[in-house]
Amino acid sequence: MQIPFLPLKSVTEKYSEEINAAVLRVVNSGWYLQGSENKSFEENFAKFIGTEYCIGCANGLDALFLILRAYKELDIMHDGDEVIVPANTYIATILAITENNLKPILVEPTFDNLEIDDSKIEERITPKTRAIMIVHLYGRCAYTEKIGALCKKYNLKLIEDNAQAHGCCFKDKRTGSLGDAAGHSFYPGKNLGALGDGGAVTTDNQQLAECIRALANYGSQKKYVFKYCGRNSRLDEIQAAVLDVKLRHLDEDNVCRQKIAKYYYENINNSKIVLPKRIADKNNVYHLFPVFCRERNNFQQYLKDSGIQTLIHYPIPPHKQECYKKWNNISLPITEKIHNQELSLPMSPCLTWEEAEYVVDCVNAF
Ligand SMILES: *Cc1c(COP(=O)(O)O)cnc(C)c1O
Repeated sequence: MQIPFLPLKSVTEKYSEEINAAVLRVVNSGWYLQGSENKSFEENFAKFIGTEYCIGCANGLDALFLILRAYKELDIMHDGDEVIVPANTYIATILAITENNLKPILVEPTFDNLEIDDSKIEERITPKTRAIMIVHLYGRCAYTEKIGALCKKYNLKLIEDNAQAHGCCFKDKRTGSLGDAAGHSFYPGKNLGALGDGGAVTTDNQQLAECIRALANYGSQKKYVFKYCGRNSRLDEIQAAVLDVKLRHLDEDNVCRQKIAKYYYENINNSKIVLPKRIADKNNVYHLFPVFCRERNNFQQYLKDSGIQTLIHYPIPPHKQECYKKWNNISLPITEKIHNQELSLPMSPCLTWEEAEYVVDCVNAF
């Protein structure tokens, strides 16, 4: 059997009739940017997430960048201010901070749940701290009441990187509506994925929303009048139309992921393989299914030889990257352990039972 990590062709085929109709509608409309498709998707996504505003933009990195940039334009953040962020994240989270001349303060996660360790945040807060940026990594909710309380106590903005957790909840609220603003990515492989790049910001703050919308449109609120030195970051009409279709099916797709995860949790049984702490389904939309193994590279090769494609998320943590040379000597043992031992098993709404059974059998036989 050959099991691809994420067969995007099948993911699209699942809803191909609706997707094809949506794409054709845009093609034939003659209107390709900033039109009714964006408006409709923004309204529907804001409603889904539970915020007043949604602003479509070009990708997830831009969404995060624009939030911080807007806080700078609104005089809430300034060059050199600090943003607390988990050390184990995808590089984009950190780039959004450093591109704005802000300073990421890298905080370790717990190995247990892979999200930022909320007991290590307060000691890192200084007079320069302006925000805590949480990342709902792997589809797991990273928010805790303690983080919310710290933001209140120290008057910090709470920003969510929700690139990997569309549809995830904390209590009865969706991730993306838990803080002051959230950045979303619609990269094709994400739970809500476009057929190309896409992103969005969600927020309840009107002033922030207006500033972000202007910044994403060359800094303009009125045609040919430029209030800020903005950039061009747009979600195109074809992607918005596709996303509107896929948004309608997101919850059912996430349920498929949760069923596969349940099967993995209940049947993977190998003392060499450690699974992350299992949390309630409403708190995890299983963007990925990470497992941990001391012999990770051997384990990956063995699965490959068995026809199972896996990926590592991520092989090198941000502080060990060449682009951040100045942090290369910092020691972050938990982050490094995660990056050294992590392997993501196949996970998608299209994985069949037969495939999941085969994955489990191979993992158990390692
Ligand atoms: C994918 C991702 C991003 C960036 O999204 P792009 O659309 O690829 O720019 C940011 N943060 C996290 C955690 C991601 O997984």
